[in-house]
Amino acid sequence: MADNVNSLPFFYGNITREEAEDYLRQTGLSNGLYLLRQSRNYLGGFALSVSNAGRCYHYTIERQPNDMYAIAGGKSYRSPVDVIDYHSQEPDGLVCLLKKPCNRPKNMQPKVGPFEDLKEKLIREYVKQTWNLQGAALEQAIISQRPQLEKLIATTAHERMPWFHGTITREDSEPRLQCGPRANGKFLIRQRDANGSYALCLLHEGQVMHYRIDKDSAGKLSIPEGKKFDTLWQLVEHYSYKPDGLLRVLTEPCPRPDGDIDNSNPYETRIPGKGKEAMPMDTEVYESPYADPDELRSSTVDRSHLFLEDGELGSGNFGTVMKGTYKMRKTEKTVAVKVLKNDDNNQSVRDEMLREANVMQQLDNPYIVRMIGICEAENLMLVMELAELGPLHKFLQKNKQTAIKNITELVHQVSMGMKYLEEHNFVHRDLAARNVLLVTQHYAKISDFGLSKAVAEDQNYYKAKGHGKWPVKWYAPECINYFKFSSKSDVWSFGVLMWEAYSYGQKPYKGMKGNDVLQMIESGKRMDSPEKCPLEMYELMKTCWTYKANERPGFNVVEPRLRDYYYDIAQ
Ligand code: AMP
Repeated sequence: MADNVNSLPFFYGNITREEAEDYLRQTGLSNGLYLLRQSRNYLGGFALSVSNAGRCYHYTIERQPNDMYAIAGGKSYRSPVDVIDYHSQEPDGLVCLLKKPCNRPKNMQPKVGPFEDLKEKLIREYVKQTWNLQGAALEQAIISQRPQLEKLIATTAHERMPWFHGTITREDSEPRLQCGPRANGKFLIRQRDANGSYALCLLHEGQVMHYRIDKDSAGKLSIPEGKKFDTLWQLVEHYSYKPDGLLRVLTEPCPRPDGDIDNSNPYETRIPGKGKEAMPMDTEVYESPYADPDELRSSTVDRSHLFLEDGELGSGNFGTVMKGTYKMRKTEKTVAVKVLKNDDNNQSVRDEMLREANVMQQLDNPYIVRMIGICEAENLMLVMELAELGPLHKFLQKNKQTAIKNITELVHQVSMGMKYLEEHNFVHRDLAARNVLLVTQHYAKISDFGLSKAVAEDQNYYKAKGHGKWPVKWYAPECINYFKFSSKSDVWSFGVLMWEAYSYGQKPYKGMKGNDVLQMIESGKRMDSPEKCPLEMYELMKTCWTYKANERPGFNVVEPRLRDYYYDIAQ
């Protein structure tokens, strides 16, 4: 929701209270004239400015921990716009009803705050430095983990600001401010202790003033008796335009002596460690195993370097999947090994496995199980990246408390992997929750390319020669009726996968026969929404179940829609 406010004509972005009043004045200052702006002290919050009887009033619309919005003490709504709609019917504490939006002047875009500008750069740099990523892997990490990364950046960005001097003493701070030009309002912030207590040191008529900044139990920062802020950079921004109790406004940052705080990796201390939720990039299977050509030189795995463990991870009609270790030149990798059963020496199963290996070898994406190689030994073996938590549907059956946000994060990752497949002209043909494997609770990979095909770019579909042992409940009508498979038919399957995920691993079309399912689809009926499924996600599923393939969206459309919804609920 918060992302969409930019398109509202009465949203001004990061403007100050005074600027808001100017705009209201220019537009006539009529009773109930209002505009919306970004809160300058609460992260993700807004401010509403209203005029009445020739005066301006300002209300904070806070973003609450449950992701709802409300004016303090007022009713909560899903978006700031809903709050405005409500207060155009009910004053409920406001000075008057909201009557008329004060729209932005023509050609004016919502104002981007200084931090918004910086944010992109900071996120990129953070991901680059922390996980040593670049290119597509870097982009995909940012797309998949943006809400988490934004939070991290928001609370740590001050460490990159020139005015932040780290843990120096009061005595050390003074000569720094007195050195060089001694402009009034020159300032720095130092850290007082590890509990989030800081000090703002400000030069005033040649003297250094020290203001304590304390963190309250809710984590808000403030100078005693002063306004509260979520972050230090918001505090600095505020006191840079208004003294608000200080002796004067902050003017120029006192630059930190070079290399003073961080001369190594500035983020070292914040790499998610024990207890923190791991991001996909924290795992060993995020980065491509092909990234270091010295390690993985060919797709043939030497049997003497492969060690299998007892006990199997799973099984299929081809044989079993075992956990193992593959020793490479510099490092070793835990892997999953698909071992073809030997007994019947079935040539067709062997061919199928080699075809699967051939497809996998051409794919390289963080949200797809990658192949490490093929090993021809006592059995034919397909060595893959390990996704130890196993199939998505089983995980959700066992973990019914998994949050909708978490499910959406995983489903979005699957859509990212599928978008990659679509872009590379592969059709999966067996996309289902059983073929999504989890590396962690927050990291999904698409697997099982046994039925997958490369499709010709100009034709964009694969035509099967006949009906096979097919997962009919996951198949689009054109697959069953005309044997035609395309990324669009994968989108249909993806809709069923979404249904499985939001129903915590239930069987789709439970108790129905394949033929009945087809009839149901032909008659225009679709599965009902799973109980806990958000409306937006059920709508998306139904779009995936558009009857005609050419009217159905591709993953190029489905992925951004999921992304938007995920960011919305995850912020
Ligand atoms: P498949 O026939 O490829 O679907 O594999 C059968 C089962 O083996 C799956 O349902 C998983 O439980 C397990 N499995 C397959 N591949 C992997 C993998 N890469 N990592 C962990 N478990 C796997």
